[in-house]
Amino acid sequence: KETLVEIKDLKRHFKVDRKNILKAVDGLTFDIYKGETFGLVGESGCGKSTAGRTIMGLYQASAGEVRFKGASVHEKKSKRELKNLTRSMQMIFQDPYASLNPRMTVKDIIAEGIDIHGLAKTKEERTKRVNELLETVGLNAEHGNRYPHEFSGGQRQRIGIARALAVDPDFIVADEPISALDVSIQAQVVNLMKKLQKERGLTYLFIAHDLSMVKHISDRVGVMYLGNLVEVAPSNELYETPLHPYTQALLSAIPIANPQIERTRERIIVEGDVPSPINPPSGCRFRTRCPMAMEICSKIEPKFIEHEPEHWVACHLYGKN
Ligand code: SF4
Ligand code: MG
Repeated sequence: KETLVEIKDLKRHFKVDRKNILKAVDGLTFDIYKGETFGLVGESGCGKSTAGRTIMGLYQASAGEVRFKGASVHEKKSKRELKNLTRSMQMIFQDPYASLNPRMTVKDIIAEGIDIHGLAKTKEERTKRVNELLETVGLNAEHGNRYPHEFSGGQRQRIGIARALAVDPDFIVADEPISALDVSIQAQVVNLMKKLQKERGLTYLFIAHDLSMVKHISDRVGVMYLGNLVEVAPSNELYETPLHPYTQALLSAIPIANPQIERTRERIIVEGDVPSPINPPSGCRFRTRCPMAMEICSKIEPKFIEHEPEHWVACHLYGKN
């Protein structure tokens, strides 16, 4: 497997006031392979969106590093290098409406990247490219003359996808792209993204708050809790044999589609709220809600270990921590 994005001990902290620091992302380490979809999952406030933005270079890293095709994302670069980087990495947002300028026609929204990067030499070429993109995402040339408010949520997400594709990126960070859509529309957007990935060899970081949302698109899944990854595994393995008590709890909350085929899963209830990332619990951050917590869990932070090939977990129940 070829690594496209390498994330090493990445931290992004925010100063809240004189005394307090919010550790939104606090030591992420994982790789994203070329051509795969890496699903990043966690409850709201776990730092997954901040992680996505820091990986893209939209936020500065407080520590650690991100390498895209071997080159550092956060190191100072020339204007030209920066331009190439922003062209290679694009983002799709949860609320496409908020990210689309309401005063611009869809055609001009999609063409923005084409203009910035000088990808069309003539007006005709620009129009041709835009129309092709509209068709690629299931819209047509006539839609290009309208404004964002004239479209449904699902169509707006298609516009957001067309805009991201306009500059021919290699890597797309999709921050909860289907969370705001009706269930009936979610599958359509996921299928479109899968189709585009195949045709264009795209790599996705697909962020979601719920494991059921990433199941059908992810090759591998990472589960985040309070700024850290607690488990990373190939999708099938994660859904079949989750190791971390938090992943087990998240999975037990998903209704079982076919109870006769799927093994019975006991419902695990995680008590209490997510603690504040300003003052996370000592040792294992999940210990205040973990049904399996032991004495060691409050004292020592579990290391993130490769318990089985490609299956990483941070929990004292596994390995010699
Ligand atoms: Fe639970 Fe301890 Fe594992 Fe944390 S390290 S998940 S508290 S068993
Ligand atoms: Mg978010």
